[in-house]
Amino acid sequence: MEEKRSEREILFLDPVCTHNIWGGTKLRTEYGCAAKGDDIGECWGISAHPNGDGTVREGKFAGRKLSWVWEHHPELFGNLDYDRFPIMMKIIDAREDLSIQVHPDDAYAAEHENGSYGKTESWYILDCGTDASLVVGHNAKDREELASMIREGKWSELIREVPVKPGDFIQIDPGTVHAIKGGIVLLETQQSSDITYRVYDYDRLWNGKPRQLHVQKSIDVITVPAKSAADSVTSVSDLPKNRLNQLYSCRYYDIFKADVEGETEFVQKWPFLAVSVVEGDGTICGRPIKKGDHLILPDGFGAAKIEGTLTLIASAVCR
Ligand code: ZN
Repeated sequence: MEEKRSEREILFLDPVCTHNIWGGTKLRTEYGCAAKGDDIGECWGISAHPNGDGTVREGKFAGRKLSWVWEHHPELFGNLDYDRFPIMMKIIDAREDLSIQVHPDDAYAAEHENGSYGKTESWYILDCGTDASLVVGHNAKDREELASMIREGKWSELIREVPVKPGDFIQIDPGTVHAIKGGIVLLETQQSSDITYRVYDYDRLWNGKPRQLHVQKSIDVITVPAKSAADSVTSVSDLPKNRLNQLYSCRYYDIFKADVEGETEFVQKWPFLAVSVVEGDGTICGRPIKKGDHLILPDGFGAAKIEGTLTLIASAVCR
């Protein structure tokens, strides 16, 4: 007999945390990462990627990797027509500036990166100092100027920095030059891909050596001219409370934010809904949740009742 849809469990995930030369301590001290050390850069909260495959924390799939559940129980994810779990949600803590990078689109990645997905991503700023900024876009007017500015190292002319504050949302399409600057904590929602081309690393040495750059691939894939700075950053800090507000929608994901104060309920109507708790604590369908928890509401879950004082960022894909 087919199990009743309402009996489908919430998949709570134990994330994979990564050590990075630019990482810090906040993922451990504030976001519940179990990893030790003062160089924790990324917490892959929702991920079935081979480089960081989350583990189900409890329930009938306890101890299973998310990729295993995806493969063996496609009905929990709406029997989607994808050959792999399609999205990732990460929290990133940058103690120092990250290198300036760009991602390819699906077509370029399929041809040049062994059939990998390209990478479209977005950022939701969780925490940063006053006068914080990010690199989004560039100032070259065409590909020829872009190539010469990169080859001549005219970085301060080329790179565009935009001011950001907590509650800002930034969509990073493939071809967008981008970098997280030191002092920023953000939640990244992205296609499940790890393909990154490093354009520039501030001429830094790490363990005595510069990191590899991917200059020609970067010049190939960077969009010229870049999207305007004004179109790159939107504030989503003051949305209606106690509802799932849509932040962004593209062919790869829909992103939502819910600020809960007291009690609310919404219907999980997507193939699955991936949820990260980014602030506060409370309950979902009576189960305790807190900042740093990551979970998936499966297909057909139905009504999800949430109580407490908390902020959720959620994402889904289309059927
Ligand atoms: Zn990126």
